[in-house]
Amino acid sequence: MSSANLTRAETSTRSDALTVHSYRVELDLSAAADPSVQGFSSRTTVEFAATAESTWFDFIGSHVESVTVNGRSVDVRYDGARILVDGLDALNTVTIAATATYSRTGEGLHRFTDPVDGETYLYTQYEPADARRVFACFEQPDLKAPFTFVVHAAAEWSVVSNRSVAYRTAEGDVQRVVFEPTLPISTYITAVIAGPYHHADGVWSRGELTVPLGVYCRRSLAKHLDADEFLEVTRQGLDFFTDAFDYPYPWGKYDQVLVPEYNLGAMENPGCVTFTERYIFRGAATASQHERRATTILHEMAHMWFGDLVTMKWWDDLWLKESFADYMGTLAVAEATAWPDAWVSFAERRKMWAYLQDQLPTTHPIAADIVDLEAAKLNFDGITYAKGAAVLKQLVAYVGRDAFFEGARHYFREHAFGNTTLNDLLEALEQTSGRDLRAWSTHWLETTGVTTLTVAQGPNGLAIVPSDDRPHRLAVGWYDADPSGAIVRRARREFDVAGEPVGIGDKDAALVLLNDGDLTYAKVRLDERSLATVEAKLSAIVDPLARGLVWSSLWNATRDGEYPVARYLAVARGHATAETNSGLLAAVLGNALFAIQHYVPESARTAERSAWLKTTWSGLASADPGSGGQLAWARAVAGAANYDDGGAPDILAILDGSAPAPDGLALDPDLRWSFASALATTGHADEPLLLTELARDDTASGRTALIEALASRPLESVKADAWHAALTDTSLTNDHLEATIAGFTAGGRRDLTARYDDAYFAALREVWAQRSIEMAELIVDGLFPRGDSLANADAWMSANDDAPAALLRLVAEGRDHLARDLRVRAAQPRLTS
Ligand SMILES: [Zn+2]
Repeated sequence: MSSANLTRAETSTRSDALTVHSYRVELDLSAAADPSVQGFSSRTTVEFAATAESTWFDFIGSHVESVTVNGRSVDVRYDGARILVDGLDALNTVTIAATATYSRTGEGLHRFTDPVDGETYLYTQYEPADARRVFACFEQPDLKAPFTFVVHAAAEWSVVSNRSVAYRTAEGDVQRVVFEPTLPISTYITAVIAGPYHHADGVWSRGELTVPLGVYCRRSLAKHLDADEFLEVTRQGLDFFTDAFDYPYPWGKYDQVLVPEYNLGAMENPGCVTFTERYIFRGAATASQHERRATTILHEMAHMWFGDLVTMKWWDDLWLKESFADYMGTLAVAEATAWPDAWVSFAERRKMWAYLQDQLPTTHPIAADIVDLEAAKLNFDGITYAKGAAVLKQLVAYVGRDAFFEGARHYFREHAFGNTTLNDLLEALEQTSGRDLRAWSTHWLETTGVTTLTVAQGPNGLAIVPSDDRPHRLAVGWYDADPSGAIVRRARREFDVAGEPVGIGDKDAALVLLNDGDLTYAKVRLDERSLATVEAKLSAIVDPLARGLVWSSLWNATRDGEYPVARYLAVARGHATAETNSGLLAAVLGNALFAIQHYVPESARTAERSAWLKTTWSGLASADPGSGGQLAWARAVAGAANYDDGGAPDILAILDGSAPAPDGLALDPDLRWSFASALATTGHADEPLLLTELARDDTASGRTALIEALASRPLESVKADAWHAALTDTSLTNDHLEATIAGFTAGGRRDLTARYDDAYFAALREVWAQRSIEMAELIVDGLFPRGDSLANADAWMSANDDAPAALLRLVAEGRDHLARDLRVRAAQPRLTS
């Protein structure tokens, strides 16, 4: 095992032996704008108490120049990931001077050059363990300390970190910025941002406390940044959380920075949250996109307390902060912002992520057993975030909201600036709720899998039948048509279910909806009568959360091969045009296209693709001009056009202006690219056409889109080049690698890509050994061959059982996705005959 892969056992030993008092980190980024300069000098001084005679620092960079221990210069003992230090006293000052490397993979200190104006932008991203790519440190969450950052950078740049600037000195065209020391925090949430960032300012105050707010983005995106909405949501969140947690915002200021080529949605660095630029809308955006952005803003804000103030001891309890932030972020959006339907998206989109992951062979308990960093890295998944949050929602239903919040307040007060495990949270909640949560924890946090709830005819009417013995608190809703034809809830009752069937009475209704209100985490099946009702009248259900649960139920049954794909597609064709919730609409349109590619048997696929393309065009034609629905349908047209070229002439005409776009549809750059890319995939856009698009949008996004579109063209030589680039061109950035892979696989053209199946499996070990984990994941996941047989994957897995666990996990998941495709396809004739 590489010495970069830290284990739980050794970090635990290190934190037992050390108490860190302070870090001072000085980074010289003054030459960053020169692309020929690959590295930067990084100097760390750490003061710490030790009970051991020796320890190690973590650092992944090009060179360590010197190590000084208590004033003595010592030999540098550096293996590329660890710096060994011995001769420690009870109290120590260690200074390490090193050269770190600018990143192109989004890990560590990422450097980006804006093609629009040639400006250079830097930002850091560390979780779980990439601070060591920027400065030498003890890289583990339970060694907290105050950090003082000192940054040398171009004089005209903005330099931002977790705290405000203490003072700034200028020497010629270089500035030296010294920040105020942070409160005690973990290494993975420290941050440094530098570049000619545009910013908008605001302020939030409550009583004595005034918090300056900032929103930052690249200058070339400033015209698209709706900072007012960002700031409004931020203020709404600070109001909400201050009341809910009864603990004042601890981090001084609150900056939010949108950064290029970001590998995730956002990161909760205290006082300096970073976000993907996808949250800057370059054109029209649906209500659901705005809602999702607000949910991310407030998810990160919840971390200021849960995660940053109180932090998990080790990555086993990553869920403690992620589940909590996911739950609280959604709650805050629903109750404090302009998007009261946030729980609808949660029920449909977020929980679908959890249901999907929880049925993989690699699923794990929410409270996981994470032995090392590679395992930690892969656990930022649907279980840790979405299932955990769904289970917290169930916990609130179980202990009551007041007890839940009171428990959280106790927890913050008791563990502020400390580290915790699951046990600490359970203790706090048990104190306030008076309930024994150990059995609950065993059933929900320490086991895997999804309960399936069905409705069956019992002796005294209908009964809920659970597939396992996990305890659920859930509601049942009885729905009928009102005189206008709308389907409305007529009655609702809560039940406790734990293993045995539970009668729900003999009430008659057109639709009986289990888990009404989405209190619990379970797959729900509809009885025959309810199914008939929703097939005829799904869009007449008034409550969007109930509609979301029905859509979700149908999709889960489709994915399980229990509900015919043809019927799911018929419901989508029949009811999607009337779906008014833009999040539900986008999810259904995505599911329909996915079902056609993966679940429809080969013999029927061409016809279904063509029918779906027609559906999307007519959805587009009938949508209200300028509406979010119109935008969602336009994107669906582009999606469907990757698989059927029947609409190519019409799309070409819209792009070249010879035919008007549908009334009210804003042809923004991202929509234009999705159309152009679809044309390229089906062989209707050559390089000159794509370069014309680039001339209209020669931006970072435009260049990434061009890479994808070029690689999408259905030509043997194009696929060969894309394959070669993805596997061997290490100069590709994270975004460009992702675009290359998306182009290679575009249109599901197995006739062109199946020849690379053997090469894929042959390359896996090498890819894992050579690439950073972020890039390796892109390759292993993105290029997994979705063919017609499991033989290749099975052969690789049996020959490589000694491969790194994280790689084995990814391959096992790819295999299982394919196995499901094959299983559901095979079930279709049985279902429809
Ligand atoms: Zn989070």
